[in-house]
Amino acid sequence: MDAMSKRQPARKPPVRRRTPKPAIRTRKRYLAAVRAPFQRQFEFASDGRWFDLRAIFDRINARYFRNRLRDYTIGWGRRRRERPKITIVFGSIQEEDRVIRIHPLLDRQFVPPWYVEYVVFHEMLHAVVPDRYDSTGRRIIHHEGFLKRERRFRHYRRSREWEEENLGRFLR
Ligand SMILES: [Zn+2]
Repeated sequence: MDAMSKRQPARKPPVRRRTPKPAIRTRKRYLAAVRAPFQRQFEFASDGRWFDLRAIFDRINARYFRNRLRDYTIGWGRRRRERPKITIVFGSIQEEDRVIRIHPLLDRQFVPPWYVEYVVFHEMLHAVVPDRYDSTGRRIIHHEGFLKRERRFRHYRRSREWEEENLGRFLR
């Protein structure tokens, strides 16, 4: 979920090799590929302090996707000591591994449940709406077709407004 992002937060470069200007999803794929699969399962939990992502996922899957998304893992991403400064990526999806990660900073009391649902919905939508490519071969993930479907989410407007008003609370 990087619709409002201008820049990704600073991250450690991959250990083994550097790829020039990797897109965030590509880089995540790379990192996932060098990790043993069993480690991934214990890396994150879905039940947070305030929100149970598994329950949210199941509800949205039933309501919006006719339970079409199968064998997905969803969980809170790792907590980091440093807070992001400029933008925050609230959610991400790795399609090969069927893993959805939600930013742990969303697991807080002041975050409305429907906003967490919106972030989860957005990532799930990536699983069913294919990316497009422009004439230069550049990948477009939030294309018109995607955005049109995204607007069908029940709390879409409210979520976008809340995001805009509250983004500063997640950044330093
Ligand atoms: Zn997205």
